[in-house]
Amino acid sequence: MTTMESLIGLVNRIQRACTVLGDYGGGENTFSSLWEALPSVAVVGGQSSGKSSVLESIVGRDFLPRGSGIVTRRPLVLQLHKTEQSSHEYAEFLHLPRRRFTDFAMVRKEIEDETERVTGKTKQISPVPIQLSIYSPNVVNLTLIDLPGLTKVAVEGQPESIVQDIETMVRSYVEKPNCIILAISPANQDIATSDAIKLAREVDPTGERTFGVLTKLDLMDKGTNALDVLEGRSYKLQHPWVGVVNRSQADINRSVDMIVARRKESEYFATSPDYGHLASKMGSVYLAKLLSQHLESVIRARIPSITSLINKSIDELESEMNLLGRPIALDAGAQLYTILELCRAFDRIFKEHLDGGRPGGDRIYGVFDHQLPAALRKLPFDRHLSLQNVRRVVSEADGYQPHLIAPEQGYRRLIEGSLNYFRGPAEASVDAVHFVLKELVRKSIGETQELKRFPTLQAEIAAAANEALERFRDESKKTVIRLVDMESSYLTVDFFRRLPQEAEKGGNPTSTTTDRYAEGHFRRIGSNVSSYVGMVSETLRNTIPKAVVYCQVREAKQSLLNYFYTQLAKKEGKQLSQMLDEDPALMERRLQCAKRLELYKAARDEIDSVSWAR
Ligand code: GDP
Ligand code: MG
Repeated sequence: MTTMESLIGLVNRIQRACTVLGDYGGGENTFSSLWEALPSVAVVGGQSSGKSSVLESIVGRDFLPRGSGIVTRRPLVLQLHKTEQSSHEYAEFLHLPRRRFTDFAMVRKEIEDETERVTGKTKQISPVPIQLSIYSPNVVNLTLIDLPGLTKVAVEGQPESIVQDIETMVRSYVEKPNCIILAISPANQDIATSDAIKLAREVDPTGERTFGVLTKLDLMDKGTNALDVLEGRSYKLQHPWVGVVNRSQADINRSVDMIVARRKESEYFATSPDYGHLASKMGSVYLAKLLSQHLESVIRARIPSITSLINKSIDELESEMNLLGRPIALDAGAQLYTILELCRAFDRIFKEHLDGGRPGGDRIYGVFDHQLPAALRKLPFDRHLSLQNVRRVVSEADGYQPHLIAPEQGYRRLIEGSLNYFRGPAEASVDAVHFVLKELVRKSIGETQELKRFPTLQAEIAAAANEALERFRDESKKTVIRLVDMESSYLTVDFFRRLPQEAEKGGNPTSTTTDRYAEGHFRRIGSNVSSYVGMVSETLRNTIPKAVVYCQVREAKQSLLNYFYTQLAKKEGKQLSQMLDEDPALMERRLQCAKRLELYKAARDEIDSVSWAR
């Protein structure tokens, strides 16, 4: 095989692989830039102009569906692979991998069936191509695309839009700058009415990638010939026009062999009084050679840009693969390791929030600095220690002896009653910090990039962290309530030791009436209790934050996922792999990415070796 033959073969293989990945050119699909960088040959022309016939004679095999009306209803991407001289000829469809067709009548049947699978038995068209490869010693390396014929009117059973739909589909192939256009026009029609030439001129005005093919030379009216067209006088193209004579419908009906047809075609030109002088540059065999040569020169010119495109794509795919992460290991040990790694990644981010590396942790100190002091200030001590209430509580507790001894029970009850109010702000601080922590868990989960792949594990970690936070909250509540209870269970003795002196300092009992004396007495009790409560409030303002930090913040930092870890250790392989259940879309994406990467790398290696061999 020559270098160039293998180069075209390489392009064929890359195109084939692109198609396997769904990156074929044409239709509504996203075009892979690699496919677009590679040259291909598309056959265009009006309905029944002889497109399928030209393709068949290039291949030298009879395998395309035919008949009158619209037969080609999906693009057919036909790849010809030249094989060793003695090898057997066979065909393979992309949608039926591993099935080798040696009977070409079956190939035709499968094209028909596969067309119907997508379009139904209607006369509808579909832009989804059928991909067929033919391996034969008798073909040249070439990728050809057969397209539905251009029409002028919709026939019975077709939507009105069909004319436009076909044109749009055909155009989507031929407008690509790397598409070589095989424009088929029948010789028995005026070239000025050729649909193929009309479209080719639109998308390739300079004619550098258009090959004009004139079919049905044998059907021209007696006494006329196509020399004006074939010699480029009617319509000038950069490449020479090629005339062909395909099998007539009668030949097809009589199953005239393709080999016989090729021989008859060359006899036709050799003996033609009109075209004899052009005989060596006419016919399907010459056309195939011409196309193959052109393809070679195009590829040769494109190698540098194809190589750089491949390298660029490899870089892009590799960075995408990095982003998507490595595929998950299969054994339980490695899976456990992966899960622990992911947990640690989350935990690290969570800690950063608390330690100030990331925002949000400061809100905890906001609770202690503003929320708690404000709540303490708002407690209704004024009402509780009003003259009226003090009198009621003290009278109920001690009876009427206030002027003789300090009303111990009354004091105790007033103090206990006041201290009870501290439970509210204490619990509220615990809850407020709990919500800050919960919010930080939510944030940290979202910020753990590595976890994005694993929605299940993400949910499990979130649940485990929140459960742990609930436990810390319960513990913290018990602790702060205990702090409050401790304050009421044993009063600060010093404070009361100082009281009698303060009472003496306070006023002059003998100079007032009993009532006014009693009122002053209760007022004094109220204000004593109030200053005691103030002292306790001051203490709690300091100890509640200590308890909350100890029970919730510190625990969250140290052991947020500890319980989860012990549960993990008990899990079996199957449960672990369930936790690492990836988003299916993501798995698919990685798979596609990996396949593409493999293709591009293989392509790069092949191109390297071919260019070195040159
Ligand atoms: P397509 O619709 O463009 O694919 O056209 P086909 O290849 O199916 O050909 C349409 C009809 O024209 C068939 O009956 C062919 O046998 C006939 N045909 C195509 N090319 C020639 C030719 O060069 N000479 C003769 N006599 N008939 C031809
Ligand atoms: Mg056809």
